[in-house]
Amino acid sequence: MNNCRMGNLGVGVCVAHTHPISAVGMIMTGAATNNSEYMPDARSSDILLSFCGGHVGILVTGSPTSLDEGPSTSRVLDIFAGVFSGVLTDGAGTHVCGN
Ligand SMILES: [Zn+2]
Repeated sequence: MNNCRMGNLGVGVCVAHTHPISAVGMIMTGAATNNSEYMPDARSSDILLSFCGGHVGILVTGSPTSLDEGPSTSRVLDIFAGVFSGVLTDGAGTHVCGN
C-alpha cells in the first residue's frame, strides 16, 4: 500500500463536539530524515489535525515490516484514533511499503 506523508489526509469522526461529526484532517508530523516524494514519512504515533476545529488523532497502525526511525510507516487505509478517529485516505503516488 502507498505510504502516507505529512500533508496527506484522513477522514473520520470527531467527538469533540456536542454531537459527533464527520471531518477531514491532515497529517501534521512525520519523520525527521526519511521522506517520500519530498515530504516526511508519516508513522504510527504521528499526529493528524482535523479541519473541524483543530482536534487531533494519533496514527496508530502502520506497516508490520517497514519501520521509519522506530515507528511503523503509515499507509493509506491505516487508522488514527483519539477525539478525532478514522482512516488515512491518500499517500505518496509512487512509494509503497510493507504489506
Ligand atoms: Zn472536531
